Amino acid sequence: MLPTDPLTKHFRIDVDHARALKRLHIETIEDLLYHLPERYEDISDIQSVGGLVKGQDAVVFGVIGGLKTRKGWRSRTPIAEGWIEDGSARMKVMWFNQPYLAKMLTNGMYVKLAGKITGSEGKLYIANPEIEKLDSLPIDRHDSIFNGSEQLDETIYPVYRETKGITSKWFFHTVQKCFERGILDSMTDPIPEDLLNRYNLPVLGTALQWIHTPKKATHAQSARKRFAFEEVFYIQTAKARERALSDSAATYSFKTDKAHLDAFIERFPFPLTNAQTKALRDIFGDIAGSHAMSRLLEGDVGSGKTAVAATAAYAVSTSRPHDKDWGNLQVAYMAPTEILAKQHFESFIEYFKHLPIQIGLITGSGCMKFPSKVNPEKPTTMSKAQLLKWVKNGEIPILIGTHALIYKSVEFKHLALAIIDEQHRFGTNQRKALAKKDQRMPHLLSMTATPIPRTLALTAYGDLDITLLDEMPKGRKPVITKLVTKDVQGKMYEHVRAELASGRQAYVICPRIAEPDPDKETAINAKSVTEEAKRLKEKVFPEYTIGVLHGKMRPAEKDSVMQRFASHEIDILVATSVVEVGVNVPNATNIIIEGAERFGLAQLHQLRGRVIRSTHQAYCFAVSDSGSEKTKERLKALSSAKNGFELAEHDLSFRGSGDLYGFRQSGLSDIGMEALKNIKLVEAARSEARNLIEKDPELTKHPLIRARVTDITTDLHME
Ligand code: ADP
Ligand code: MG
Repeated sequence: MLPTDPLTKHFRIDVDHARALKRLHIETIEDLLYHLPERYEDISDIQSVGGLVKGQDAVVFGVIGGLKTRKGWRSRTPIAEGWIEDGSARMKVMWFNQPYLAKMLTNGMYVKLAGKITGSEGKLYIANPEIEKLDSLPIDRHDSIFNGSEQLDETIYPVYRETKGITSKWFFHTVQKCFERGILDSMTDPIPEDLLNRYNLPVLGTALQWIHTPKKATHAQSARKRFAFEEVFYIQTAKARERALSDSAATYSFKTDKAHLDAFIERFPFPLTNAQTKALRDIFGDIAGSHAMSRLLEGDVGSGKTAVAATAAYAVSTSRPHDKDWGNLQVAYMAPTEILAKQHFESFIEYFKHLPIQIGLITGSGCMKFPSKVNPEKPTTMSKAQLLKWVKNGEIPILIGTHALIYKSVEFKHLALAIIDEQHRFGTNQRKALAKKDQRMPHLLSMTATPIPRTLALTAYGDLDITLLDEMPKGRKPVITKLVTKDVQGKMYEHVRAELASGRQAYVICPRIAEPDPDKETAINAKSVTEEAKRLKEKVFPEYTIGVLHGKMRPAEKDSVMQRFASHEIDILVATSVVEVGVNVPNATNIIIEGAERFGLAQLHQLRGRVIRSTHQAYCFAVSDSGSEKTKERLKALSSAKNGFELAEHDLSFRGSGDLYGFRQSGLSDIGMEALKNIKLVEAARSEARNLIEKDPELTKHPLIRARVTDITTDLHME
């Protein structure tokens, strides 16, 4: 028997089993051995039938049989009776006055009984026990009943996740058979021994034995720790490899002059926060180094990532490269939506208008360039072909856009910096596609407002260096967040009305309706937006102008609505949650989120972030009629948490390990998920992975690790 053998080579697998195994992705012996128990049950407090004595409160597990009903010979009370057998002995069971019980039970059923031992010596019985039907018996009871084997010494036994057609017991027995046939001798541990020793982790053979047949609870724990480490270690190794690959590529490195930068920074209408200054220091440190930057800028909504991106873009596009061949260097700035791309374009026009730097915009619906030849104050619309020609010959140093940026037709002369805004909205391949736009590796600045817990960030972004923008611009007041139930909505609307009357604007976000079919989902969401806008206009805010924004609208329509909202022709914008992130309208200080329970905390926080862009006090109303305590508690965290990072940690503790952000689709096991909550383990795995890749970049000396790492899906999408 070899670990790589298909199960079918050694076991008779019937159709049901085959189907179930396929569902669990178990094909080989090794897959089976890595199907780890979900939990353990302690059977030390279960008594055996053979040892029961009169007067005892007994709990026994066994098979029930001999069921019948009769009438008591004197009292004529109906009696249901039968016996229970657990391998050690058989004992009579009687229920008085519960004749229906016999009908509910069937002979041969597995049960757990809890009741008092009554009767006389030699004629003991369990009287009126509580009865619980079981799908299966604890392993040792099962074996002693059916196989006549000795009882095991262990008091804990493994419980495997069951699926239709396959039981926990089947897993247990099949694994044990593999052990009996010496499988452990033919298994090689992929993890180097010195590494295991450093963290006091058991080697593979021991760990498998301990996890599937623990003699002590501590053995099971230590084995689980090993498998948790192993899993996180593979992810980290995959990430470290990606990073090493990017590090080994040639790039554009240059130093930036402080006075030159300051001239740009001083023109911002605000002083940079310390966090922004530090982020720039990190970025320029990277760019001056010998390999391409791979940095993630993680900052709450409104923490000012655009100004950081603009300064980096300025430095790159005005640099005087060492190498004459380079010519002028270029910057690509990719945003997930058209509105955002356009907004960045406008911010850049503002920041760059004193400079002779051409800025291009490319989206699905058209192209623009600033400044216009005719009017140096204004951008002009132009054909895509013309814009792309200028980008290709290097005349346009800064190109901002949507996904359109990664189309094949977009070619740069010297792309030295790729900036990706809201990077979690893009897949790894899209991000890579942008980096591939140049023969050299461009510096990569990824930005995200999704605050994720540190352990997850280190895992999902294991290939990136992380800078936190953990400081809000001065003068920002925290958003006042209120949880609102439908019955007190009136007060909420009065508040918003008063705000509108004093010249502010508001967002109303309609609940997200999750549908398996994305097209249908967009349609339903669009409908709820339209209906809510209509209701608000008719019943609540007839005196104000209401606009709608949803994913079914054409880009030009969306733009025009956004423009009208930005210029305050629209007072209230009713929108879906998914279409627009990071939209910047400082005068909008109120946000109502309907159906708040349908959103994750991190997403609610993002939505709320739209109203913290000015110095006016902002308000967020999370409307929910969910009666669930858990939901209320979750939403409460939203009003008490100080920042997104705190909320992310909350999210982590509220969610089950199977539901960590987007990690569910990543193929991680439950143990792996659980491990992602353990910062020490994640950090250890990360530093070990980096060490390994440094010493053995191609993993030629570690073929087993290489095989695992190649298999791994590291594209961990955040929601
Ligand atoms: P985000 O990090 O969400 O992308 P933005 O870059 O859109 O945030 O910035 C939000 C707002 O804060 C913008 O209006 C921007 O002009 C402003 N801003 C950025 N940095 C500062 C600062 N240091 N002081 C004051 N306002 C700032
Ligand atoms: Mg932004």
